[in-house]
Amino acid sequence: MTLLTPDTIQLNEHAYELVVGMEVHAQVLTRSKMFCRCATDYAGAPPNTRVCPICLGMPGVLPVINQAAVEATIMTGLALNCTINETAVFARKNYPYPDLPKGYQITQYEFPLCEHGWLEIDLPDGGAKRIGIRRVHLEEDTGRTLHVGQHTLVDLNRAGAPLMEIVSEADIHSPEEAYAYLTQLRTILRYLGVNSGDMEKGALRCEPNISVRTAAQRARGEYGTKVEVKNLNSFRAVRMAIAYELARQSDLIQAGGVVEQVNMGWDEQRQRTVLQRSKESAHDYRYFPEPDLPPLRVSEAWVNEIRSRLPELPGAKRDRFEQEWGLRRTDADILISESLVARYFEEVVAAYGVGDGKPQRLANWMTTEFFRLVYADGEGQDLRQIAEVKIRPAQMAALLTLMDDKVINPSTGKKVLEAMYATGDDPQTIVEREGLGMVSDMSVIDQEINAILDASPAEVARYRGGEEKLFGFFMGQLMRATKGKADPNAARQRLQELLNG
Ligand SMILES: [Zn+2]
Repeated sequence: MTLLTPDTIQLNEHAYELVVGMEVHAQVLTRSKMFCRCATDYAGAPPNTRVCPICLGMPGVLPVINQAAVEATIMTGLALNCTINETAVFARKNYPYPDLPKGYQITQYEFPLCEHGWLEIDLPDGGAKRIGIRRVHLEEDTGRTLHVGQHTLVDLNRAGAPLMEIVSEADIHSPEEAYAYLTQLRTILRYLGVNSGDMEKGALRCEPNISVRTAAQRARGEYGTKVEVKNLNSFRAVRMAIAYELARQSDLIQAGGVVEQVNMGWDEQRQRTVLQRSKESAHDYRYFPEPDLPPLRVSEAWVNEIRSRLPELPGAKRDRFEQEWGLRRTDADILISESLVARYFEEVVAAYGVGDGKPQRLANWMTTEFFRLVYADGEGQDLRQIAEVKIRPAQMAALLTLMDDKVINPSTGKKVLEAMYATGDDPQTIVEREGLGMVSDMSVIDQEINAILDASPAEVARYRGGEEKLFGFFMGQLMRATKGKADPNAARQRLQELLNG
């Protein structure tokens, strides 16, 4: 495996290097909002029904810090190899906007909870690379505005919900690296249970800062002017927007133009970025420490307690599947991609066993037949639907054992799996009920073979005369006659003997 360093230079055809830093906003999965007791179950709730004087910004109320949100942020910082600061300070970010009832957002500015981390990403070519994490901080979300005709409606149910901001260093140098960074970050957040990762619902929002520079600028430690792209609602859109901006900025500079510091949006229909508004500088926000909240002290003991609750992370799990259980890398990658799938796989292995290539045999079934059923069942290609599957891990293990013991052959195994999926019944019950057990009784197989040979004397003569490709014709007849239940190896061997004898 080649480990690219953040300094590995990749230039495009105009000899420009792409430089991307990624800001990710992740809604923290807590029961209540960041500074009040309002519920965060506002999805689908009538507008403005999850609000109180605190998140509405009424005068004279005091915010209280949500401990669960702080712990989720520290846990994320630990998973991203960050330093957890002993003191974090909430700050006011002042700006007037209709979805911000207080006229300011409580966030963290100079003193965030977590800093100086990294995430090692796997690249499509098999290489790996570390992307620096500048900071992970905690803030409150805004409400939402909805434009209807001439009117703008405001729903404040989301206002004050906890939001984590994860800011990477400008270490991303290709659209593919950006895609790998985001997908792997989302997997980690889901493993930690701190964020749902649902981009289409706005639970995870990505804003890449994109610029280009020449090798000479790079050598002087300079950066090009960056453009921020907002409102991207899929990782695919992020990848395409970055590729588009790389081409646009390179062409512009090449033609003697100047890149302006602006916010862009992504136009999905026209597949291009479009200008939104010129960007405010940090100065415009007039940040100052939040006077209603004390500095947040984070003790070492608290951090250690949170660290002890960290689950095994996807990268470590993948390596264990590969090294201890002998799984192919590609299969391990698929199985760890969702924590629910990884857990299911591990539970089946616990019931089935690890010797004799069993985990790989199970992986073959899970990533093909089993996932096909899961995908066909729900909306979209979301493997989290595995949570609804009726087949219990022990039943899946029993199905594989039936095939190992040659009670059924693999093609019957597929039918049994489908029946298990539909009914939740044990595989043994289905095999008995539907008479699917494999025929390995040689007297039964002999009887069938003799009947086939008697019925096709001309083909038998041709085969014996040297037309060996007719073997497939006889084998097909035999499998049909036994309804696919003949043990294929035993049947093949016996057919050969009787044809040649
Ligand atoms: Zn509230």
